[in-house]
Amino acid sequence: MPYLLGLLLALAVAALIAWPLLRARRSSPLPRRGALDALKEVQHQRAQAYDDIRILGLDRELGHVTAERFAETYEAHRLRAALLLRQEEDLRAELSPRMNKIEDDVLAVRLASGSVLSTTECEDCGGLRDTDAPFCPRCETDSLGFAGETTEAE
Ligand SMILES: [Zn+2]
Repeated sequence: MPYLLGLLLALAVAALIAWPLLRARRSSPLPRRGALDALKEVQHQRAQAYDDIRILGLDRELGHVTAERFAETYEAHRLRAALLLRQEEDLRAELSPRMNKIEDDVLAVRLASGSVLSTTECEDCGGLRDTDAPFCPRCETDSLGFAGETTEAE
């Protein structure tokens, strides 16, 4: 009998923890299916565009392409990267409010379950975060991209 009570208690606690998440899912739709995949794909393509630019630079140094051909191709890659960056920003803008909502829900669940002891306002984005976390999950989400990639040495 004590065993059964323990089991019931465990179930009740699990339901209590899961409830805010389930309710949140009903009241706010999750990100459009595929938006996150699209973001990853666009980031991947932009990384490839940077790679192509890097390789083109090497080819030029080795004399494998003429100056004219280099200029043409470089411009094409640069345009491609710029368009991808634009798409990436649009996708981020679409995902950002929903990602923040998810962070709020996760934080609430973790606070309720005791795995987060206190929260603090992030100095960078103003969102609530776990005081003990090494970084802000919201800012981390925002910096999914290729910070520093453009200044990468060849
Ligand atoms: Zn932050």
